[in-house]
Amino acid sequence: MEKRYDVLIVGSGVGGLYTALSLPESLSVLVLSKKSDTLSNSNLAQGGVAAVLSFENDSFDLHINDTLIAGGQANDLDAVTVLVHEGPDEVRKIMEYGVDFDKNPDGSIQKTLEGGHSRRRIVHHKDTTGAEIVKKLLEELHRRKNITQRSNALVYNLEKVKSGFRADILLDGATPVSVFADYCVLATGGIGRAYKYTTNPSVATGDGIRLAYELGASIKNLSYVQFHPTAFNGPNREQFLISEAVRGEGAYLLNCNRERFMQRYDKRLELAPRDVVSRAIILESRKTGSNNFYLDITHRDKEYLINRFPGIYAGCLEQGIDITKDLIPIFPCQHYLMGGIDVSLESRTSVSRLYAVGECSHTGVHGKNRLASNSLLEALVFGRRAAEDIAKCVNAGFAHVAVSDKELDISGAPLPKGIRTEIRSMLQRSYFVIPDIDSARTSLKQVDRILRRLHSGKFAITPDYCEALSLATVAHIILKEVDER
Ligand SMILES: Cc1cc2nc3c(=O)[nH]c(=O)nc-3n(C[C@H](O)[C@H](O)[C@H](O)COP(=O)(O)OP(=O)(O)OC[C@H]3O[C@@H](n4cnc5c(N)ncnc54)[C@H](O)[C@@H]3O)c2cc1C
Repeated sequence: MEKRYDVLIVGSGVGGLYTALSLPESLSVLVLSKKSDTLSNSNLAQGGVAAVLSFENDSFDLHINDTLIAGGQANDLDAVTVLVHEGPDEVRKIMEYGVDFDKNPDGSIQKTLEGGHSRRRIVHHKDTTGAEIVKKLLEELHRRKNITQRSNALVYNLEKVKSGFRADILLDGATPVSVFADYCVLATGGIGRAYKYTTNPSVATGDGIRLAYELGASIKNLSYVQFHPTAFNGPNREQFLISEAVRGEGAYLLNCNRERFMQRYDKRLELAPRDVVSRAIILESRKTGSNNFYLDITHRDKEYLINRFPGIYAGCLEQGIDITKDLIPIFPCQHYLMGGIDVSLESRTSVSRLYAVGECSHTGVHGKNRLASNSLLEALVFGRRAAEDIAKCVNAGFAHVAVSDKELDISGAPLPKGIRTEIRSMLQRSYFVIPDIDSARTSLKQVDRILRRLHSGKFAITPDYCEALSLATVAHIILKEVDER
């Protein structure tokens, strides 16, 4: 790693990788991953990417309309229009990078259906679409001489210095270093780990949102949290997702009496948008007094299921469930964040030269509830837009960052145990599918006490401390928004 780069990208999910690949090769770029380069929400994406690739039975207007309906019409129409109109070209671009979407026997790309989509428009690589995209983007990244990628590099502090940024990084969990960059792109993904149960991996602690907040960037709609209705109902914190595509391919939702119940809540039945289905499950659980819910796809052909959903088949088998003959136990859990660091259509934050892309950003495309398979698309479209905007600024001759080193001291007291667990329990209790406003107010006071303690105690800078600070900051912003509604 050098001391100075033109562009620093924090995160190696689809947002960070695609931004890096879209920058001119004349720029020096550093891409950092907190842990391994493939531990990310992107790598877990199952369903696919939504895009209108042909107009035979679909149109941009239909995709826009589906996005607005799912988002409760709280979306930014300009951003949605950009997403839908520019998305198909990004999908074609990643195919040039080698991404292999499933094909029909005649060679055309297969398209699947998910909740809230009025047409089959989701392209996929079996049920491991994200891993396929990340793999091919990383391969392309490693071919680029201008890009350096470093894993196990946690950015714990970001400061504005003359004409750019200084990022303080913990390498391998223990060694502090600083790098300087003219531009910084935050692509740090979601906040799932602020909840007791989530589909997100361990890196999803909202670090980028905290770093932007500390720099004074505007954060918007952080309380727009998405709960996926059908995560595998197991004992682990990280819940295995049963993609919406399973319902798209005909799975029924059943209550504890093994009865379909969605007809009581929405005429779109199992294919209603995620927030509607999650809410229906919680209301139904109150009615039946049971948290036992199931997906039933046993009526589909066994070979078809194993071939179409190999990841879900294998993942469920590990838990003792054979999806070709057993009901799959499911329950809602935290899945995605619609709000985030507020950005313009060029992915600019309110802080000069600071950009945000992907799940940590708020472009406004998702409104109150993301339409399935629109987020990888958002990371691609707005990642490329960030790169283009940075290239424009560079061409306009913006000044270079001044490199001025400072001694980094990461020593201090060890973090007391239990802080992260306390935050997770608070959000799970007070701000799940149907919020409990009184409990949210109490939790806000509790989280503010934790934040004060984290800021005022002289704690050692460790990954645990940094993540606790991020989780507390994120919980504070969410609960404050709820309190002010
Ligand atoms: C199980 C699952 C299934 C999904 N399925 C789909 C789907 O089918 N279609 C769809 O469109 N969307 C899907 N999503 C959502 C989608 O995957 C994500 O929204 C999207 O991939 C986010 O990409 P990203 O680049 O913003 O963040 P991520 O892919 O989460 O990447 C975040 C990166 O930031 C790094 N990072 C974080 N903090 C720091 C730090 N402090 N220092 C250094 N690096 C840091 C991490 O190491 C990681 O590399 C799914 C999500 C999950 C969890």
